[in-house]
Amino acid sequence: MKMENFNNHIGLHCIACRHPLVPEGGGTVVCAGCGRSYAVEDGIVVLEEIGDVDLNMAATPPSSLHDVRRGVLNGAPIESEVDRVARTDSIVFADLHGEWLAPLLNDAVVADVGCGQIPYLGSLPGDRIRTYYGFDLERRSLEIARDNHDGGFDLRLAQVGAYNIPLEDDSVDAVISCEVIEHLERPHDYLAEIARVLKPGGVLSISTPCVSVYFHPLEAMDFFTSSKSRQCYLRRLNSHEHWQEVLPLHPALRPKAFRGWLEQAGFDCLRHETRLWYHGRIAWPFFSRLEKIGCFWAGKAYQAYLNFWNRMVRSGLPVLKWWGIRQFALCRLVDGHFMKRGE
Ligand SMILES: [Zn+2]
Repeated sequence: MKMENFNNHIGLHCIACRHPLVPEGGGTVVCAGCGRSYAVEDGIVVLEEIGDVDLNMAATPPSSLHDVRRGVLNGAPIESEVDRVARTDSIVFADLHGEWLAPLLNDAVVADVGCGQIPYLGSLPGDRIRTYYGFDLERRSLEIARDNHDGGFDLRLAQVGAYNIPLEDDSVDAVISCEVIEHLERPHDYLAEIARVLKPGGVLSISTPCVSVYFHPLEAMDFFTSSKSRQCYLRRLNSHEHWQEVLPLHPALRPKAFRGWLEQAGFDCLRHETRLWYHGRIAWPFFSRLEKIGCFWAGKAYQAYLNFWNRMVRSGLPVLKWWGIRQFALCRLVDGHFMKRGE
């Protein structure tokens, strides 16, 4: 990376003292304030070590939804048409960048907090982005993002968690954060950190699971049958067991609470909707099994099934409105500037 990139107002900053980082010989960058140095490994600036957080998700064959998700994250080989549909559906977030976020970007500085491998990288409006920062603790994902990037815009990657965005106050036009908040012990600190780096009027595109789908009558029956199955049910609500998960019933999963948290952090919700992600504990395994016993049309049928439900969810019918699996919000930072100055 060029020296001047680190000296201008959009460069990376030290997570300890927030002074700019400047490159030094031998693959390191050094903080101009406290002198702390950080390694740069194959283009990725290592600001934070993973520590004891287990992000090393095993690459097992997709036998359940979690494995599909895992496959998405790890870039594991796609095994079948049903698998492919499930994964395409898993990056439905890309639609939102095109539909909601892209028109708001212009020569934008974008920060992706908990970017993973940035599966939507190819669908970002490159001509509207000046610099795209990708931050994640998981190194392998950052490497995949780096390798998939076609160079259409300036992409800078750093290994760092969601509480220490290594950027200056008021320096970013847009933050993208997809499926991150539900993994965090301190979601309010994370939102405050996003508000800190966003310019006033900057936009946040954020998604998280939506709790309502889990109130499917068949699944909710578990809740009432015994205390043991109640525990199972609550664990399933908190269905990220391969991550270090925190709360048995994360309040952010409830659309109203999620929106409340965003507003509390100084954001005004421009749009807030639910959509299907990969669907169902029943649907994916069902279609997958059909395919395995030789039904060549299973992939098409699965796609049609997803399209149908996405249309239903987006129809606005009151019953179905919140029956998606993921909720997406596009918000604008209103008074974050005032709030962080006033603290
Ligand atoms: Zn420093």
